[in-house]
Amino acid sequence: MAKFEVRVDGNVCKGCELCRIYCPKKILAMSTQINDRGYSPAEITRQEDCIGCKACAIMCPDGAISIYEEVAQ
Ligand code: SF4
Ligand code: SF4
Repeated sequence: MAKFEVRVDGNVCKGCELCRIYCPKKILAMSTQINDRGYSPAEITRQEDCIGCKACAIMCPDGAISIYEEVAQ
């Protein structure tokens, strides 16, 4: 089964929470840390539960999220 890695660029994120709201697995949360722009960025909580649907990346208005698929050798 494919595994996915979600990366949020913590300094691009503006904390709008759209990714958190639209993730069907509810595995994104807002950080307790503040980024360089003064926002609490999104972060992944249970990477292993990601299904790679890309909803978070599509919804992000700032292109702060990238999804990588781990390819089995
Ligand atoms: S790719 Fe889909 S399941 Fe994975 S974090 Fe984004 S919205 Fe959630
Ligand atoms: S949708 Fe993008 S800008 Fe909004 S909280 Fe998620 S990563 Fe940050």
